[in-house]
Amino acid sequence: MTMTDTNPSGMKVSDEIAIEIRNMNKWYGQFHVLRDIDLTVRQGERIVVCGPSGSGKSTLIRCINALEEHQQGSIVVDGVPLSSDIKNIDRIRSEVGMCFQHFNLFPHLTILENCTLAPIWVRKVPKREAEETAMYFLEKVKIPDQARKYPGQLSGGQQQRVAIARSLCMRPRIMLFDEPTSALDPEMIKEVLDTMIQLAEEGMTMICVTHEMGFARQVANRVIFMDAGQIVEQNEPEAFFKNPQNERTKLFLSQIL
Ligand code: ADP
Ligand code: MG
Repeated sequence: MTMTDTNPSGMKVSDEIAIEIRNMNKWYGQFHVLRDIDLTVRQGERIVVCGPSGSGKSTLIRCINALEEHQQGSIVVDGVPLSSDIKNIDRIRSEVGMCFQHFNLFPHLTILENCTLAPIWVRKVPKREAEETAMYFLEKVKIPDQARKYPGQLSGGQQQRVAIARSLCMRPRIMLFDEPTSALDPEMIKEVLDTMIQLAEEGMTMICVTHEMGFARQVANRVIFMDAGQIVEQNEPEAFFKNPQNERTKLFLSQIL
């Protein structure tokens, strides 16, 4: 596959490999959920993963972060092999931020506390420094004024932006998004996508499971289509949408576009 170094907005992809997945297979009990996954992601890539419900998108994302175990093949993140060694798992988790469909904020903690909890307790960052970092990222996602509120007092879109800020406070090198806008009301989708676009423009390596095809066209340098646990097809967005090769991709696109 050929890949451009930049997309129209000039976002750069480096030669450095961020994630290398080789011949990876995963089962849930007897159920073969991921089949022969090969995927190399370079630093600065913005990859959109799409595919029908149940095709294994979330499972793939969760394997990269070691939230799920794989049974065969290898996953190497930033040079660290994802083995059962807990030290490696901790290291990978600290380099990889994750954002889910449901924001998973702690309801009994303020926005600021949600953002400082892990840096203080996992990274041992002094409280004041953690708060300064949190405010920096809350400003980035454009809600510094909500810092003293609780998640329940915020809109869904605001909560998702807090979840993104909270991940960024751990200074990840890679961000994984699993349908971050699919639980949001339509008028809030844009504000979350805008935050993600900004992150991409700053050079963050991102894998985003999303059906927001406008986002894919604008931001992705590569779109991956999954079906039945396999990567069926991948291409640059332009070619992917205009000229899908596989029948399953064509069917999927005809249903969502
Ligand atoms: P997607 O995100 O593409 O909708 P998932 O990765 O969530 O797909 O799920 C892929 C398949 O694995 C589905 O058939 C789902 O029912 C199954 N699955 C997901 N999680 C589990 C689990 N913890 N145990 C057993 N089966 C699961
Ligand atoms: Mg999913």
